[in-house]
Amino acid sequence: MDDTLLGIGQIAKASGLTVSALRFYASSSVLVPAVVDAATGYRLYRPKQLHEARLIAQLRRVAMPLHDIRQILAAREDPAEVATIVERHLHRLEAGLADAKHVLSTVHHLLDDQETTMPTTTDALAGLADRHLHSGKVRELYSADDGSLLIVATDRISAYDYVLPNDIPDKGAILSQLSLWWFGHLTDLAPNHVVTADVAEYPSEFRAYADALRGRSMLCRRLDMVPVECVARGYLTGSALAEYQRTGAVHGVALPTGLLDGSRLPEPIFTPTTKAPTGEHDAPMTYDDVVARVGAGRAEQLRTLTLAMYRRAAEQAAAAGVILADTKLEFGVATDGTLMLADEVLTPDSSRFWPAEDWQPGRQQPSYDKQFVRDWLTSASGWNRTSPPPMLPDEVVEQTRAKYVDAFERLTGRPFEATRA
Ligand code: ATP
Ligand code: MG
Repeated sequence: MDDTLLGIGQIAKASGLTVSALRFYASSSVLVPAVVDAATGYRLYRPKQLHEARLIAQLRRVAMPLHDIRQILAAREDPAEVATIVERHLHRLEAGLADAKHVLSTVHHLLDDQETTMPTTTDALAGLADRHLHSGKVRELYSADDGSLLIVATDRISAYDYVLPNDIPDKGAILSQLSLWWFGHLTDLAPNHVVTADVAEYPSEFRAYADALRGRSMLCRRLDMVPVECVARGYLTGSALAEYQRTGAVHGVALPTGLLDGSRLPEPIFTPTTKAPTGEHDAPMTYDDVVARVGAGRAEQLRTLTLAMYRRAAEQAAAAGVILADTKLEFGVATDGTLMLADEVLTPDSSRFWPAEDWQPGRQQPSYDKQFVRDWLTSASGWNRTSPPPMLPDEVVEQTRAKYVDAFERLTGRPFEATRA
């Protein structure tokens, strides 16, 4: 073996690293010369260090941090360890690329889409700031002088717990009107919180905002909300499917074996969750958890009502060729103790609606909601789910709006008319 030491210039030339880079790697203990001549300060390297210099040059080309390079050189005898470090770096690069794509997509829209500066529902209601109570992902709550509650549905859309940068035109109006239509079909089962959705009947403090509120808001009785999200499911999918596949049961309810994604359940089940504060996830509750939280009488009332309302709505939807796979209801208690149906009901934001003609258990079902958005976000957009999501392309916005309109028209049997001025 030729053990002649190599000068820093030779190593630089043969590895593609510059002399100053080699000095830097020497001082930062990444590639320490075998000998430093005491008199001249010349750095001399063993021939096998040329191999390391070449390796460093390649790793730097893919922007690997020095810390990782040091670990790779130290772990050279351990291929598994080296592979782990390389893999980790690759993931970092992929996440960086997805992030860059997202930024570029936003830049692109800012450059050529003047409409992104269109005023939103919330801008039009800025004058109500003093009365503002709560901002959800898609709705805004205001209080009236008489203590009632004004719920305004904006055109915002959320997916994977993020509010997306685009609005879906008319979404707030479509969902408000669908919700009102359903309230009308459930009144004999329980009273609900709606006072009126006619802006002409709103308290005078809201009159100046009639144009922004018309069609997308409702004046409601303010209730003491029951701290349980009352979910009913007639079909198995989503988080319930995942739980079933792990345990064979859903929220403490045992189910038969062999059910698939989208299978119809033998009978509808009550799968409540906690009502987590905004930004946190709702946690599953068993029926006993609900009893512990609200008492046996109230729990029984919630379960019975939720299942009855699910059955009623599912039947109504079936008549329109739509499967109501599941839904989430919220109830509140009035000052006189009456339990009332509250929040929004049976919209694509709170329920899964599937076109009956496409239902086929064993796969994910096409649905009347943000499916286009979710599909685009998780594939074409390159988004990594860890940073704010990118702008949606116009065709995804348009397809999503068309889905909401379609759901409204199919379920109610009447055309959707945008009522905004
Ligand atoms: P997310 O965006 O995750 O749904 P959120 O639930 O806080 O968060 P919204 O659903 O927009 O956002 O907010 C509506 C809030 O108003 C909910 O907390 C709901 O329980 C509450 N609510 C609905 N109806 C009434 C009512 N009649 N009285 C009092 N509160 C109500
Ligand atoms: Mg909510």
